[in-house]
Amino acid sequence: MQFHILTLFPEMVLTGLNTSIIGRACEAGLLSVEAINIRDFTLDKHKKVDDYPYGGGAGMLMQAQPIYDAYLSVLEKMRTKQRPRVVYLTPQGQVFTQKLAEELAGEQDLILLCGHYEGIDERVLEEIVTDYVSIGDYVLTGGELPAMVMVDAVSRMVPGVLTNRESGETESFENGLLEYPQYTRPEEWKGKKVPSVLLSGHHKNIESWRKEESLRRTRERRPDLYRTYMERGEEK
Ligand code: SAM
Repeated sequence: MQFHILTLFPEMVLTGLNTSIIGRACEAGLLSVEAINIRDFTLDKHKKVDDYPYGGGAGMLMQAQPIYDAYLSVLEKMRTKQRPRVVYLTPQGQVFTQKLAEELAGEQDLILLCGHYEGIDERVLEEIVTDYVSIGDYVLTGGELPAMVMVDAVSRMVPGVLTNRESGETESFENGLLEYPQYTRPEEWKGKKVPSVLLSGHHKNIESWRKEESLRRTRERRPDLYRTYMERGEEK
């Protein structure tokens, strides 16, 4: 899968994504992450990419032309001629979920557009964006961190990126619930013992303990998820 990140701060996203599991998957050729510097496409002789908003108001807006030309440069390089999905990271988008990460992992190419300052001229958004995605109900200074969050979550869903050691099968949200508590060596730490069922070797009992803990934790911490899960009738 190929990620193309349109940004004013390419080094920020590349530094963040070149390590650990994502870095290894890039080296293995399962993923590629390319950061395109929007500033390289401005026609302004001073390399300006922003201007004041019409109608007044605080801050600056990113202009349409450099973003559109940066986008065209990605299309030119792409192997397929199908129009790719273009995600604009914005607090005004649908909130990013595991479900959307799974869906996007099926794409061959994904373009992520990072805004900065007060945002982006609406006209270029209308022209190129297919999905508006937020990483939560708060406002950040730029779309770079949200783009990195998305690349990370989507990459984990690409077949082969996670090894068996890192398997995502039992992870939170996979079945609509939060994951059960986990323990590793030693058996006792600061007087706290690992629940005895986990040491029993009895797989059926371990499984039902985990399911109960998963339900309890979800009910306590995320009543919204718990309600949805129960309404779906998966738990009798
Ligand atoms: N004026 C915009 C508004 O009120 O909706 C906010 C602009 S914000 C200061 C600058 C950029 O950061 C946005 O263009 C967007 O790319 C990014 N951004 C900020 N918060 C975000 C969030 N919660 N999710 C995704 N992107 C976000």
